Amino acid sequence: MGIIQKYGELLPITKKTPRITLEEGSTPLVYLDCISKLLDIELWGKLEGSNPTGSFKDRGMVMAVAKAIEEGAKAFICASTGNTSASAAAYAAAAQVPCYVVLPAGKVALGKLSQTLMYGATVIAVKGNFDRAFEMSREAAEKTGYTVVNSVNPYRLWGQRSGAWEVCDVLGKAPDWHAIPVGNAGNISAYWAGYKQYKEIGKIVELPQMMGFQAAGASPLVTGELCPNPETIATAIRIGSPVNAKFAKEAVAQSNGQFNAVTDEEILSAQKLLASKGGIFAEPASCAPLAGLVKLKKEGRLPKGITVVMVLTGNGLKDLATAMSQVGEPITIEDNMKDLLEVMSS
Ligand SMILES: *Cc1c(COP(=O)(O)O)cnc(C)c1O
Repeated sequence: MGIIQKYGELLPITKKTPRITLEEGSTPLVYLDCISKLLDIELWGKLEGSNPTGSFKDRGMVMAVAKAIEEGAKAFICASTGNTSASAAAYAAAAQVPCYVVLPAGKVALGKLSQTLMYGATVIAVKGNFDRAFEMSREAAEKTGYTVVNSVNPYRLWGQRSGAWEVCDVLGKAPDWHAIPVGNAGNISAYWAGYKQYKEIGKIVELPQMMGFQAAGASPLVTGELCPNPETIATAIRIGSPVNAKFAKEAVAQSNGQFNAVTDEEILSAQKLLASKGGIFAEPASCAPLAGLVKLKKEGRLPKGITVVMVLTGNGLKDLATAMSQVGEPITIEDNMKDLLEVMSS
């Protein structure tokens, strides 16, 4: 059951909203036993890489696309660091509406680019960063009348609230900390709105503290200043001017949370930790929260025994080049048993 079917009562839909779905949402919430012990907390990972296009973007996109069709959209347009475009292209294909995607040239992981092209979107790579691609796509939308499906589209954030509802439905409460990577800051804003809405209707009693994690080279919410040349290996959060900065700051302030930055090195080592001690392969941006928890633990700033949910925003298979650069090559041998047994005993 997709999120419009599952949570329709909580979403701004009407009888006329088409009930489209690629069966997004209902992703696993996995208890990470080994890493919990290492960090002395109760750590859960929300596996958003299990969504139809491999990232959480599908939760918001299904709503944005359904509402746009309800309102008679002719075509969709978005700027993207990769996952938004994959998601927009997939839902546009399912609904058979044209989709235009503007990307920062050379800065999108190959998995995401190939998905987007495969779904049949028109892909335009701009020689500039995401922030510039976004400005241009907004201007193009004004000129053409096409619907922008970036996270400035309010329906995107509505759909993404469903992640918070699922967490509470499984845990029976909100976690103490909600840890999440922050790029354009839509998802942290959406989760906070989702938790608050669940509290208002009596589904939960306590709200979580919202802990946002940015890459050190793209951390305007940590430094308090826009970042004109964002740089990080975690391309999904390579954003210098977050579109939803205002809501994200409110979420952190109201929840008594924090923004923290982590280096690319810390992100890559968290990616390896998550895979080798948790069995979960998530893309680099998704590992910023775990990198942050490890860092806070080292600094003595991670309270013992708290329940933490981290959102593993995208699937590791999307960015294989980065992964391969970390793990090295397999051990190659001649086709004889002796060599195989020798490797296995070393
Ligand atoms: C989009 C994205 C983010 C950042 O989410 P925002 O809502 O832009 O803050 C993080 N991780 C992945 C994998 C993403 O695709």
